Amino acid sequence: MHYRFRHMMWLLFVAIIDQPLAAAPKTTKQPPKLVVVFIADQCAWHYIPKLRPFFQHGLKELLDNGIVYANAYHPHGIPETTTGHNSIATGTLPKDHGAILNQWITADYRKIAYDNGYINPSTDLTYSGPKAQPASCRSCDKTMVDGLSDQFVLNTRPGTINKVVSVSLKSYPAIATAQREGKAFWIDEKSGMFVTNQRYFATTPAWLTAFNKEHEPANLKQVTLTTCHDQDSRAYQFIDAKNYDHAGYKFSMVQRGTMPIDRNTPTPYDLFIKTPTASEILLELAKASVDNTLKNGSDRLILWVCLSNLDLLTHFYGPDSMETMDTIYHLDKQIKGFMDYAKRKVGEQRCLFVFTADHGICPIPELVNKRGLTIARRIMAKPLMQAMNDLIYKKYWERDIVKNYEPTYFVWNEQRMSAMKPEKRTAIINELKRFLKAQPGIKTAWTFDELKNSTFRPEELENFYKNQLYEGRSGDLIVMPQPYSQITNYPSGTSHLSPYDYDTHVPLILYQKGSLEKKWVRTKVWMPQLAGTLAQILDVGRPSASIFNPLPGIER
Ligand SMILES: [Zn+2]
Repeated sequence: MHYRFRHMMWLLFVAIIDQPLAAAPKTTKQPPKLVVVFIADQCAWHYIPKLRPFFQHGLKELLDNGIVYANAYHPHGIPETTTGHNSIATGTLPKDHGAILNQWITADYRKIAYDNGYINPSTDLTYSGPKAQPASCRSCDKTMVDGLSDQFVLNTRPGTINKVVSVSLKSYPAIATAQREGKAFWIDEKSGMFVTNQRYFATTPAWLTAFNKEHEPANLKQVTLTTCHDQDSRAYQFIDAKNYDHAGYKFSMVQRGTMPIDRNTPTPYDLFIKTPTASEILLELAKASVDNTLKNGSDRLILWVCLSNLDLLTHFYGPDSMETMDTIYHLDKQIKGFMDYAKRKVGEQRCLFVFTADHGICPIPELVNKRGLTIARRIMAKPLMQAMNDLIYKKYWERDIVKNYEPTYFVWNEQRMSAMKPEKRTAIINELKRFLKAQPGIKTAWTFDELKNSTFRPEELENFYKNQLYEGRSGDLIVMPQPYSQITNYPSGTSHLSPYDYDTHVPLILYQKGSLEKKWVRTKVWMPQLAGTLAQILDVGRPSASIFNPLPGIER
């Protein structure tokens, strides 16, 4: 009796402390009808604590009200756009989805683009009509697994059609996220029109033609840049915000105010797609695609919105620049505009918003070096490759053994290497590795087989490189730089070419009013966990090659 009383008191105590401190208003959790995944290209986590005090709109709403994963990482060593988008959308690592980089080097030493975009540049359906057969169109044929978009569409049930649309300012993010079952739209840099192709539609959808006609980006004569805050505002008063010494463009877009669109150049929209006007029009396209896709009351939609302008701009100006900060402030505002539209469209509690990024960004090495972080350096790839070839010629009388560089690996002349006696081949490989490891700014180098046969713990940065190996696509000598060092083809600007925090740590926020809200999760999570989590929320099959656990803190 005495024991039973104590036991009952204990159960009562547990029941009491298990309750939230203040009773939350009772809400019914509703399944989402519209899932919007904003992928802000290159939006590193490091922007969030820095710029959060100045967010006033969509990013503020998401950070204040959503489930915020403060330690979400892309676990691959060379974090590129195609790679990150595929990992987000398929819930797998590059070693499985195969999209190891935006482009890679083929067995005959040609560079091949993930979506064939550079090989067949004019195969897209535009307002002017079809130009190509589906076989030669840009596609996700090189994604080697299925993903969330595929599973969602394939799991359409009686009375409800599941649909997927992806919009982007570059072709490959749209194609990577739409996968085989969704519909992709992106901007054509030559015409300034939004396009799709015959992989997705037999003819251009009428609404897309109407959209292009109404918005007429092709008729823009110039882009006007208006900053979100006053140019002297504290929102821009950060170190190196106006330092253009090592930028790809030596002028300030913000201070210039307007930029002409010169149709006499091969890509007149090159500057346009780096501006906030481009993401504004993209979000208008996103609205039009929802209006024209989600017509039936019971249908459900996953909408991927790939906001590419931040990345395109920051490669030139660097993450510390005023231009970059202002682009993020514009995204804050534009995302809010879209969120309000979506809530009106399907009801506030039926919208699930996700905000994340495909990778981060490294500061411009010269600027961070000048600030005192003297490990930061830019290593130019071509002279490095030349020095490697000179060394091998001097010692082994073999010319041009190193054929190519694609960040961050080298490809050697396989024909010549395999014709050599094994001892000579091994000696040359060891010589090249010794040489690379002796270079300031390079931590280590592996051959493909060495890395494949190495064993690391999952959280070790070396393992990030192993996660990215794919036979026939990865190079022969894979190089790991030291923090803040870049082996690059570009003499100015910056990139995202390493496994370090600034390049792989990204924001990840899920927000659905009444269902997924108000929590900060500090546990380290991996970005491929997202796709399976969304599959679980949407009650559809997981991407079939995804082995990752659902994200913590999601109670459904
Ligand atoms: Zn990117």
